[in-house]
Amino acid sequence: MLSRYEPERFEAEWRRRWKEADLFRTVEDPSRPKFYALDFFPYPSGAGLSVGHLRNYIPTDVLARAKRMQGFNVLHPMGWDAFGLPAENEAIAKGRHPAGMVREYAETYKRQQDLVGISYDWSREVNSSDPSFYKWTQYIFLTLFKRGLAYRGEYAANWCPSCQTVLANEEVEGGLCWRCGTPVVKKVLPQWFFKITDYAERLLSDLDPIDWPEGIKMMQRNWIGRSEGAEFEWRVVKQEQEDGSVEDFDGDARFRVFTTRIDTVFGATFCVLAPEHPLVERITARHRLAAVRAVREQAERTTEQDRLAESREKVGAFTGAYALNEFTNEAVPIYVADYVLMGYGTGAIMAVPAHDERDFEFASSNRLEIRRVVGSAA
Ligand SMILES: [Zn+2]
Repeated sequence: MLSRYEPERFEAEWRRRWKEADLFRTVEDPSRPKFYALDFFPYPSGAGLSVGHLRNYIPTDVLARAKRMQGFNVLHPMGWDAFGLPAENEAIAKGRHPAGMVREYAETYKRQQDLVGISYDWSREVNSSDPSFYKWTQYIFLTLFKRGLAYRGEYAANWCPSCQTVLANEEVEGGLCWRCGTPVVKKVLPQWFFKITDYAERLLSDLDPIDWPEGIKMMQRNWIGRSEGAEFEWRVVKQEQEDGSVEDFDGDARFRVFTTRIDTVFGATFCVLAPEHPLVERITARHRLAAVRAVREQAERTTEQDRLAESREKVGAFTGAYALNEFTNEAVPIYVADYVLMGYGTGAIMAVPAHDERDFEFASSNRLEIRRVVGSAA
């Protein structure tokens, strides 16, 4: 018995014996219950595995081993998420072809995972940049495309000017790129979309029975959106002049809003456009442009999660323009504010401060009218 833990004295021998016995290969066996243990596939970088990777992979391996000992037929595979701009940028920086570079990095990851002793079935290793794998990605995409479930549109995405790549909200940390620390900007880009809105009601109802924290479920609900509601058009009818007077708006400008609460339209006392909304520059009174642009610049540096946060003070400005509420025949002021996002719905809302928490906060801090129009039944 050793008094100190000295893994180098025995681990190599165990690795050799596991490998010889082909211990972690999964073979089909209908007589045993199945268990599928899958971790995210890492993007293989030149830096090798990090402790952060292992924080994910080791607990899953513990679970996979426990399930094997309980008699389950465990499938525990590993692969490489090797496609995309990170690999391309690294290849450019190194002056290498990405194919050979990715293969080499993946070999390093595999060697390190073996050193740690993770029980993967390497006979099932996949690489997302390998044609034998991505032919299936292409097949699935084409199937969605043919059925009208994949389409092209425009979206104000998080953009890192240094990495030259789009970032997910989770990849923006305090307004900076998680990879290189450059301030992230919003850039309107043509993108492919999947039409998950066709499945919104099903996705929403399937969330209810899931045992997740309510906050996470709320984020998912916001992200899925709701398909049942009304979308209709507002027309810009008035515009403030430099001397403070209000004149008829010169020109034809319209925007669409989506609401799940059309019953509250009589309480819509103002409208809010996302600062990135294409109509903003055209309808904003000249003497208000500087303030409106400042809102947009600040919004571009703020993550969507922060912009949607309940507790945060909403940043906005009056455009000087007014839209007609056809239901009350009133011209209501149009604001830009960072809590309305271009990528959600139409990028414009009718604000009903008496019946919406965020509209209420914005109305309160901007001294806008709050009109209660739907009473409670009690
Ligand atoms: Zn970056």
